Amino acid sequence: MAENSNQQPLLEFLSELETSFALSVPVCLNFVPSFLMEMQNGLVQHLSNEHLQMLASHVTTRPTGSEQGKCLSMDLGGTNFRICLYDFDQSKYPTSGYFILKRQKYLISNSVKTNGLLIDWMAYCTLQFLNDYYVDLQDLETETSSSSAPSNSNSDSKETFRCGLTFSFPIKQSSISSGILQSWTKGFQGPEIVGKDIVSLFQQKLDEKGANIKIVAITNDTVSLLVASGYFNQSSQMSIIIGTGNNGCYWESLHNVKKLGHEAPESTKGKEMVINIEWGAFDNSNAIIPLSKFDKSLHDSSPTPGFQKLEKMISGLYIGEIVRIILEDLVSSGLIFSESSLISPTVFSPYALDTEVVSKILSFPFTENKRFPLAESNSVEDFTRLGSLETLREIIKSNIYSDPSDLELYVIYRVCSVVTFRAMILCSLAASSVLLKRPDVLSLDHSPVPRIIGIEGSVYNNIPGFSSVLSFVVNNVVKAHIIAQKNQNKITSNNQTIITPFNVFETFELDN
Ligand code: BGC
Ligand code: MG
Repeated sequence: MAENSNQQPLLEFLSELETSFALSVPVCLNFVPSFLMEMQNGLVQHLSNEHLQMLASHVTTRPTGSEQGKCLSMDLGGTNFRICLYDFDQSKYPTSGYFILKRQKYLISNSVKTNGLLIDWMAYCTLQFLNDYYVDLQDLETETSSSSAPSNSNSDSKETFRCGLTFSFPIKQSSISSGILQSWTKGFQGPEIVGKDIVSLFQQKLDEKGANIKIVAITNDTVSLLVASGYFNQSSQMSIIIGTGNNGCYWESLHNVKKLGHEAPESTKGKEMVINIEWGAFDNSNAIIPLSKFDKSLHDSSPTPGFQKLEKMISGLYIGEIVRIILEDLVSSGLIFSESSLISPTVFSPYALDTEVVSKILSFPFTENKRFPLAESNSVEDFTRLGSLETLREIIKSNIYSDPSDLELYVIYRVCSVVTFRAMILCSLAASSVLLKRPDVLSLDHSPVPRIIGIEGSVYNNIPGFSSVLSFVVNNVVKAHIIAQKNQNKITSNNQTIITPFNVFETFELDN
């Protein structure tokens, strides 16, 4: 092809990129003990967001399935605010145990994220939700009353709903019904609310607006996910969110949560509490994971430079942005997109390239088998043989560059996979460390490890290969550590192998 002569500098760029995003076996091996040590530190003392905060959730029991009654669930995520009205009743709904009476999703605009009026806006959405619900209810009652006995149309209007609020930011709690915001993450800003109790603020706004709602619980999103997954699977031990943000939580023995100061050992015996790790802060001190120049540039232009190091390598808010920074660099080095009028403004605007586009790009070759196609294509020639490039070309045309060559398609695909692959491995290492914190509850002989993890989020759900890489790596890393501990060996490796998409399925056979 005519492009061949231009390939060399591009291929060199790619190979340097791969090296700077690579995780060597020694890095992977250091990760786990260092993560475990940080977890331990956070359990004995209250730490700031420079470290793993290990926030006590005060959730100490699992759902039983016999929960009853109506309740509101609200979920403030990094992208949407969701409100749901549930009716729990095992006898009425034998298969699920609950029924969703109404649900609504509200997109959080950039201005709401930063203008200090977030809580007002949440209260406003809630009122709108309740009004809509009462209108639906009235319609239903009119329908039923015309066909059967008359009903009291006002019956529900004074009902007070109990509400559980999921809040996807770090909150320090002294009980299940209060939570002090420690800091903002995921690009939210507004010092007004930091250091304050979210429940009191929100309850006050709801009361002012006359909403009949009593907030009875606040939990981090990982904690809500773990509790919810326990509703379906009693053996779930930890949960991970891999969406706009990234974090995990797990069940810890209460006895180990030394910073809560339970003096009497009997008061903690056999009891557990969910701990929100806030693992996005791992390695903020830069001792373990190498940062590429692209990561550095992401930090430099972020409102929280140096913070949330792990999250900035894994989560959806940042994957698209890292890819964009790399593409911008390729353009400014004159390596791709020679016709500047054909370049989408997305390439030059911070945070404009959505991780969803990256997921779509990585779905090439758009087959059923989404294991990790790059593992089979190490060159542009292999790549073009994987399948028709047309769907991929359309995605690039509408989001990045309107006349891409095959070589450019290959480069973009490769950039996306380098960035997301590192995210997969790092997330797997964090998950492995958490499971290894509770070796007492791991039964390695039975189900594969990931079955005891509840996982949710757009990155996990949409990036092809995320779940298979995660299962594979977690299973092998956990097993290797357990076997080494049993035999009282240290896992050591003189092996300088770099973990790449091509060799992951072999390299992690660490069993000795
Ligand atoms: C927050 C965590 C949250 C995670 C996933 C992070 O930015 O700090 O509290 O669990 O995102 O939403
Ligand atoms: Mg969420």
